[in-house]
Amino acid sequence: MKIIILLGPPGAGKGTQAQRLMSERGMVQLSTGDMLRAAIKAGTEVGLKAKAVMDAGELVSDDIVTALIAERLDVPADHPGFIFDGYPRTVPQADSLDRLLAERGFKLDRVIELEVDEEALVDRISGRFSCGSCGEGYHDRYKLPKTAGVCDVCGGTEFKRRPDDNAETVRTRLAEYRAKTAPILPGYEARGMVVRVDGMASMDSVSASIAAILAD
Ligand code: AMP
Repeated sequence: MKIIILLGPPGAGKGTQAQRLMSERGMVQLSTGDMLRAAIKAGTEVGLKAKAVMDAGELVSDDIVTALIAERLDVPADHPGFIFDGYPRTVPQADSLDRLLAERGFKLDRVIELEVDEEALVDRISGRFSCGSCGEGYHDRYKLPKTAGVCDVCGGTEFKRRPDDNAETVRTRLAEYRAKTAPILPGYEARGMVVRVDGMASMDSVSASIAAILAD
């Protein structure tokens, strides 16, 4: 079982790379952002609590996201593994993850940090949208569907944009990353877990770097 954390500010490409690892290796993406968006859509109590915080670009409470993660970790030892995408995002979440993994006898293999230029992120995030049926990601400038209005993967014709993918909220999300998430790196560095990848390179080149790290 491989367990990795993809770390990097919003728009660094964590979700894209996690999806590729899922389809290529059968590893399971654990995205607390996706789980929270699903909770909002389903109208659950967690969703109701999280919505305003997410729309503002701030962080949802540690207890809520850690509970969402804990629910997914009860798997047999021959499971292909997990890609943590957007979790942990604070020092207490990193501590909780250590505990959750240790309790199950699982071991974190790597923390892969996608390094990106912050100015490019606003541009990347504010143009993104996805297929409403299969979730395939697109971008107004970098990746439009081959046939306008039709998803390349599933043929769906409904697309959606995240309400927090606007320039103003992105600035708050970046500030949250700097203030609360970047401080989890030194702890992982002290354990020799961190590998850095240039997140400004092409998606294929980032995927190749991650594959090389996982082959280690
Ligand atoms: P993401 O899809 O990872 O960009 O997350 C979208 C939003 O969900 C974030 O801006 C936060 O409001 C919330 N969120 C997702 N994951 C976490 C987390 N691990 N801790 C706190 N808030 C989170």
